[in-house]
Amino acid sequence: MSGEANIRFALESSLGKLSKWLRILGFDSIYVPGIPDESFFSYVQEGRIILTRTRKIRDQNPGHRLLFIVYNDPRDQLKQVVSDLDLELSDTNPFSRCIRCNCSLSQISRDKVRSLVPDYVYETRFKFSQCPCCRGIYWPGTHYERSIKMVRELFTRRCF
Ligand SMILES: [Zn+2]
Repeated sequence: MSGEANIRFALESSLGKLSKWLRILGFDSIYVPGIPDESFFSYVQEGRIILTRTRKIRDQNPGHRLLFIVYNDPRDQLKQVVSDLDLELSDTNPFSRCIRCNCSLSQISRDKVRSLVPDYVYETRFKFSQCPCCRGIYWPGTHYERSIKMVRELFTRRCF
């Protein structure tokens, strides 16, 4: 799907972990648990690709692009999305989006986070970004390195 600049998703309530991974990859992914099946389509704006595990939602699809997720494990689900939609590394923008609220992160200077992060983080990290929605501060840490490794694996080995 290279060249398609704006790949956006809407995920049903059982796909919370998958929504976090898609946000880590930088995809605009709305995930609002608790929306009843019948109002799901009216909630989702046109242009978003619907990810669902519910046959009823799949079968009632009124013209939306939709991917029916077959796997239980969130990592397998992510591999399915990458494989079925033919996503490429160039489609992603890892760590550019808040995992909690889906907003795009902005860079923030190190001196501005002095009182907002633990001392050891301030002393050992030099790049920070902030979510404009929840004000959460992000920095490259252990989790970041693990995720980078996972992202690389995702796009070098196609398992399905
Ligand atoms: Zn946020």
